[in-house]
Amino acid sequence: MTREALAAESVSARRGALCCRCKRWTYAPVEVGYVERQSGPGVVLWGCPSHAVPMIPGPMPGELERGA
Ligand SMILES: [Zn+2]
Repeated sequence: MTREALAAESVSARRGALCCRCKRWTYAPVEVGYVERQSGPGVVLWGCPSHAVPMIPGPMPGELERGA
């Protein structure tokens, strides 16, 4: 395998991810979480843009009360 082929493969592998909500492939994945595993590295949870937005935590309660 050539160096170029390896590079192309790693790029295409990152060009999208499976949405953890609708299980559909998205080409604009948004990181929505991280799952620690007892064995091996943790797994990043990805969401498609339409599902990631409501899953991403908004401002913390303390942030909203700051300055009040
Ligand atoms: Zn989705």
